Formats: sequence, C-alpha cells, structure tokens
Amino acid sequence: MIKGTTKLLGVIGHPIAHSLSPAMHNAAIAHLGVDFVYLPLPVKPQDLKAALVGFGAIDLRGFSITIPHKQAILPLLADVSPIARAIGAVNTVYRTDKGWCGTNTDVEGFLAPLQTSPTPPCSGGAEDDRPALESSDSPLYQATARGGSDWSQKVAVILGNGGAARAVVAGCAQLGCAEIHVVGRNAQNLAEFHDSWVTSPMPVQNLQVHTWDNLSMLMSQADLLVNTTPVGMYPHGEKSPVSAVALDRISAGAIVYDLIYTPNPTQFLKDAQLRGARAIDGLEMLVQQGAAALKIWLDTESVPVDVMRQALREHLGLD
Ligand code: NAP
Repeated sequence: MIKGTTKLLGVIGHPIAHSLSPAMHNAAIAHLGVDFVYLPLPVKPQDLKAALVGFGAIDLRGFSITIPHKQAILPLLADVSPIARAIGAVNTVYRTDKGWCGTNTDVEGFLAPLQTSPTPPCSGGAEDDRPALESSDSPLYQATARGGSDWSQKVAVILGNGGAARAVVAGCAQLGCAEIHVVGRNAQNLAEFHDSWVTSPMPVQNLQVHTWDNLSMLMSQADLLVNTTPVGMYPHGEKSPVSAVALDRISAGAIVYDLIYTPNPTQFLKDAQLRGARAIDGLEMLVQQGAAALKIWLDTESVPVDVMRQALREHLGLD
C-alpha cells in the first residue's frame, strides 16, 4: 500500500513502458513488506539533468537506468564505481552524502548463474534421452560442476561487442578466464573495443577481437560461448547468431549462455543443447542484476530472488 511515508524507487528510460523492472521490484517490495514503491519514470534524453535535480527534490532513494541514459548519466553523477567506469555504463543509481552515485550490476547478474552451486539437472525421460533444457527456474548451474571455481584454463567466446558485451568481458575477466575472444561485425568498432579495455581502469589484457569469419575456428576452443547480440530475440525467435554448421564444432559440455530472455529458450540455446552443450538463458542475469540493485537501495543482503524471478516469468508469460 502506498502511504504518505512510502519511499520512492524507479527506473528511468525513454521509452520506459516496456520495462520489466517495476513488476520484478514491486513483487520483492511486497514480499519484504517494506515501505517502498518502484515506479516507471519516463525521462527524455534532453531532460536527464533536470530529472536528476527533481529526483533529489522529491527524495527518490535510487533508480535503475535503461536506454538511452546508461552512458549519458556518467558525467552527471557525484561518484561512479570502478566497474561502471570500466564498462562505461551505469544501470543503478543510489544516494549518498556526496550525492548521486552510479554503479553497474550487470556483471554480478551475468556471473550469478556461473557461480551458484549446481542443482543437478533432471535426466531425460525414456522417450527423449536428451537432457532437459534448463529454464531460469532451474538454471543450468553446471559451470561450477564442470570447471569448479577454476576458470584459469577456460576460453570464453563472446558474440557481439555492444553494451552488454562490456559487462560480459568484465565478468569473464573476474572469473579469471585464460582467453577472452570477442566476435563482432565491424573491424573499427572491434579495435576501439579492444583498446578501451587495454586502457581501462580495470584493464583486460587477455582479450582478442575477431570478425565473424573466425567464429568456426573459435567454436571448438570455447568453454564458454556467450551471445550478446539481439539475434534470435522476439519477434525473430527462429533466428540464431550461429549457424548449425559452426555450432557443430562446439565441445559437448561447453557452456552456452544467451543474454536474451525472450523467447525462452532461444533457438541458439536449443541448438547448443542438442549438441551436448550446457545452456543458460538471460532471465537469470536480469533477475540477479535487479536483486543486486535492490540490495543496494534497501541496504540489505537479503532480497527475495525467487519472488523476483517468478514475477518476471509471470510477466513474460513463461508459466
Ligand atoms: P547493443 O549495445 O546494441 O549491442 C548489440 C551488439 O550486437 C553490437 O555489437 C551489434 O553489432 C551486434 N549485432 C546486432 N545485430 C547483429 C546482427 N544481426 N548480427 C551480428 N551482430 C549483431 O545492445 P546491448 O545493450 O549490448 O544488448 C544486446 C542483447 O543483450 C539484447 O538482446 C539485450 O536484450 C540483451 N541483454 C540482456 C540482459 C539481461 O539481463 N539478460 C542485459 C543486457 C542486455 P554492431 O556493433 O556491429 O552494431
């Protein structure tokens, strides 16, 4: 119930009507019984600075940021965390005595399904002996099982070099991957992407960039293959970023991770699973980056991740 004392949280973007964050965060707030509400806050690019001043005036406690403000907000903040600086984007803002501070919880979200203790997947039924494709209810937390916590001999291959790829590179570097390969379609953008990590406040030295013609060669080396392109996203769910022929080279037991959460699973994950790879979908990253933000705003280590996941699944019509 919203009362006179209710504290405000929200998400800024333009447009914002499609945002899944209000459903996820308000479900958690209701479950916790805390006196907060999380609102969609439409802010046009030219209004960002004024909006920040206004948020201070109405004592907004914190907010999420989506397109197109993730980069633009950096110079307007009193402080930015090293991880957000390295990624070059802020997705979570909170208040301190210094003023508005920004961080980025996408790395934490990306890493969570790779680090959580495994729940062994159910084995296939008699009429279908393929392993069941994990949903975000029972994400395939087999990374730990497969590689332990030691990623130092593992090769990561990342498809795409946009904003989400930056969080994934930072995540793979945190895991300690031996090699990180990024595949993109524009050589100039790839070179800039590479250089930005070499000179980053959190430098990544073992990063190599490639155009898509190298993918076939990289495929057989990949222990972790991550799609950060929008290829295969609704309403183009029949598409996959990787051809069947290239995917034939993936090792059985490699982890294939798609940041896309709708459709769920994507064609890419279905194809990978058929080849014996382990699949992780993007829903868990979405849930976990939100949970990490809520922990900051509520100043607690305990947020109801299951409730947040379920709210998203219902909102997306996955149940
Ligand atoms: P972005 O900044 O626009 O980057 C997209 C990247 O994909 C760019 O490198 C782009 O290449 C490449 N790309 C686009 N279309 C392509 C195509 N047809 N073939 C090959 N490459 C293509 O977008 P983003 O913010 O990184 O988001 C990317 C995806 O990740 C989206 O589907 C988004 O929903 C998902 N995502 C999920 C989560 C989560 O929590 N699960 C979080 C963030 C993002 P160019 O640079 O050459 O254009």
